[in-house]
Amino acid sequence: MTTDIQIARTARKLPIVDIAARLGLGEGDILRYGADKAKIAHHALNGLTDRPRGHLVLVTAINPTPAGEGKTTTTVGLGDALNRIGKRTTICIREASLGPNFGMKGGAAGGGHAQIVPMEEMNLHFTGDFHAITAAHNLLAAMIDNHIYWGNDLDIDTRRITWRRVMDMNDRALRDIVVGLGGVSNGFSRQTGFDITVASEVMAILCLAHDLDDLHARLGRIVVAYTRDRRPVTARDLRADGAMTVLLRDALQPNLVQTLENNPALVHGGPFANIAHGCNSVIATDTALRLSDYVVTEAGFGADLGAEKFLDIKCRLAGLAPAAAVLVATVRALKMNGGVAREDLGTENVAAVVRGCANLGRHLENLRGFGLPVTVALNHFLGDSAAEIAAVQDYCARHGSTAILCQHWARGGAGAEELARRVVDMVEGGGADFRTLYPDSMSLWQKIETICTRIYRAAHVEALSGVRAQLDLWEEGGHGHLPVCIAKTQYSFSTDPDLRGAPEGHVIPVREVRLNAGAGFVVAICGEIMTMPGLPRHPAAETIGLNDMGQIEGLF
Ligand code: ADP
Ligand code: MG
Repeated sequence: MTTDIQIARTARKLPIVDIAARLGLGEGDILRYGADKAKIAHHALNGLTDRPRGHLVLVTAINPTPAGEGKTTTTVGLGDALNRIGKRTTICIREASLGPNFGMKGGAAGGGHAQIVPMEEMNLHFTGDFHAITAAHNLLAAMIDNHIYWGNDLDIDTRRITWRRVMDMNDRALRDIVVGLGGVSNGFSRQTGFDITVASEVMAILCLAHDLDDLHARLGRIVVAYTRDRRPVTARDLRADGAMTVLLRDALQPNLVQTLENNPALVHGGPFANIAHGCNSVIATDTALRLSDYVVTEAGFGADLGAEKFLDIKCRLAGLAPAAAVLVATVRALKMNGGVAREDLGTENVAAVVRGCANLGRHLENLRGFGLPVTVALNHFLGDSAAEIAAVQDYCARHGSTAILCQHWARGGAGAEELARRVVDMVEGGGADFRTLYPDSMSLWQKIETICTRIYRAAHVEALSGVRAQLDLWEEGGHGHLPVCIAKTQYSFSTDPDLRGAPEGHVIPVREVRLNAGAGFVVAICGEIMTMPGLPRHPAAETIGLNDMGQIEGLF
């Protein structure tokens, strides 16, 4: 079987200026990074703000297997298919984190014949955005310790510094560390640690900022620590916001690349989907909408987390209104939701598929609750049996929806044309009446309860000690209008990753809350959340290298 990287190598890429021209952008509007990558320049972005927006289509999924269910692959396949049937379509997805590539394989540029190229670069350094985010984040960290070293005029309580450091590498040894050892000239020692760059609030800020001024303002609002009398200390108090904006100026411009079928794709930003909102930048989505008729974009994880955050955080903060949603399902994930163990997914099991469809049905209901027309994209894997496929189609037909068998992984855009036609029907039918789940004015705790009961169908939400008092303090401090970002397992509607299907009546414990005043949301942590991954016993890095022709081997 040909691997993703082998398929990607056979791509007949067009010069990036030609792709830009398809969007109506001239050479002066882009900053080229070699022959096949470019950024859309700030001055070109500024010229677009009066244009009407095209139609936004969200690709989301049922609760997945650990391997992923092909949301990115379907996003790319649907984008190619829409272009094939004559709709000018741009794809918007996230950039990849570099570190995890060296742990377990799995790229972020789609798969099979539905990929974005150049995929190696997109998965590695790309245009340097994540390095810029790392630098901006760590500049702020350095300025905190430096401020304390020179006398601590702001009276920062060194036990209450919440700003850690980041690096785009899986390195568990850095999770909890002590800094400032070695004597007076090295400052004050204190405990801190590193997170992976995609977990940085700076990443979330870059992804939610409308323009450079908004970026600057949001960076200034980051809360980095508290004083002894519990007053928040911000990046602006430390006067770090200007220099951070300078470091991020270039990175804020969206990256233009192409699919295997030479259609435009904006790949920009990549916040975590647990402690952040998990979708590409507002700037990229907005730019794509102003340059095309259709924009297809993806939200991370399953629809309970990814779509909810896309809609309640990104769309709310950016004033976006999707016209339709596509719910990706696979036979193997349905089987897993129907109780089949991971190692048995290869065996036909229609009964398990039928049981697992309860998960799909729950997501359909939830998405309709946001006022969106939805269709199911059944991402076809070669091992799926005809009876299993029929069972999904039958379930969807009985629940007022359609499951469309999609073969873009094997056949590119041609394999997703039926899905594309269905999406056009939904969009042109004008059935969307988008509404967020809760109003800004609801209290922070009520927002958490609303998401947990209405989307996760929990019976009850439990606040562990200190959580309610903390939320009250933030409300008094003027942060009560913010939306909420819930961090929990992606494998279940509950907080127990093994509780598959469509559980109800469970209890969701809120263990901790965090204020991301710069990004503009409050994070509620409901389960073990890892913000600095480790490497497995045999990391992929052991087998990655260059071949005789200077090509990358072993990456995917
Ligand atoms: P997600 O975005 O949901 O995490 P991806 O689109 O990145 O999922 O796909 C995850 C992996 O599954 C990729 O390696 C991709 O090549 C593979 N994949 C996706 N769809 C198919 C398919 N229909 N058949 C075989 N492999 C697939
Ligand atoms: Mg993906």
